[in-house]
Amino acid sequence: MDAIAAAQALSEIGYLLRQDPKEVFRAKAFSAAAWSLALQRPDLAALQRDGALTSIEGVGAGIAKVLADLVETGQSRYLARLREQMRQPARDDESAVDFSRYQGDIHSHTDWSDGRATMLEMAEGAKALGYRYLGITDHSPRIKVVHGLDAERLVAQSREMADVQARVDGLTLLQGIEVDILEDGSLDLPDAVLEILDVVIASPHVKLRQESAAMTERMLRAVSHPHVDVIGHPTGRRPGSREGATYDIEAVFKEAAKHGVALEIDCDPARMDLSPEMARLALEWGCIFSLDADAHAPAEFAYVPMALWMARRAGISEDRIVNFRPLDELTMALEP
Ligand SMILES: [Zn+2]
Ligand SMILES: [Zn+2]
Repeated sequence: MDAIAAAQALSEIGYLLRQDPKEVFRAKAFSAAAWSLALQRPDLAALQRDGALTSIEGVGAGIAKVLADLVETGQSRYLARLREQMRQPARDDESAVDFSRYQGDIHSHTDWSDGRATMLEMAEGAKALGYRYLGITDHSPRIKVVHGLDAERLVAQSREMADVQARVDGLTLLQGIEVDILEDGSLDLPDAVLEILDVVIASPHVKLRQESAAMTERMLRAVSHPHVDVIGHPTGRRPGSREGATYDIEAVFKEAAKHGVALEIDCDPARMDLSPEMARLALEWGCIFSLDADAHAPAEFAYVPMALWMARRAGISEDRIVNFRPLDELTMALEP
């Protein structure tokens, strides 16, 4: 079993544990260990032979036992038990999704808003993973605390992007925005600004507790907007700490499918939104997906490989995930 496959098993364990409020601490430990495996990709068989699995950062005796089981048998009995307990058993129609064919992440942040790294550091991080493209999608102005970007700052950012692009070859930077979906479903930047950006991710961040009918209208308006490419973390949930928004997902997801708007599977372990269960429904309703780390630092790009199991469990094949498309096909799909 390679480190990425093991990371996915630990990530799923973290996800399942998070659904029990008493287990949040342990859940976080499993997610952290999964992240560490996805980042460092240690040789697990060799470590197992030397009895040194606990030398991996974030891996204590308990998690080492789960890893040993994975290395020896290719399976985790603990994961199988949790799946049964949480009534989310393995299914026979899961898809195969291979990280080596993943072309690039289209949702990331830099220190232009609330990211913790420069655009150059993010670009170099994406390039190191072999990505062909990276969407830089900082926040829109509404979220004051994160210093969101208005039209003027987007223009300044595009000048920096030209400089960074000239210094990083083999990786194409896409200039985008993670624009807030306002309470009435309008977007936090004028159409004339959204129109010139390469990627527009529209996300619900505030007022998630709106009553369902109003929230449905709000989301319907966002997915129908001609410049929206992706709905970011579509429910806004944070497993173990915050319920997501409730709305008529069938109406909204079907409308997204009609407009070719991708629904995001945000791989940040604190979000994991859409959930595999919701993504499976969205797939049945004809949706396409975007699988992103929502990285705020280069190390967070590793959220994608560790969370690929979410797409697999939802039965989503690579051809329905925009990040598996080569750049020319992606940019065609992103055009209004
Ligand atoms: Zn967001
Ligand atoms: Zn984001």
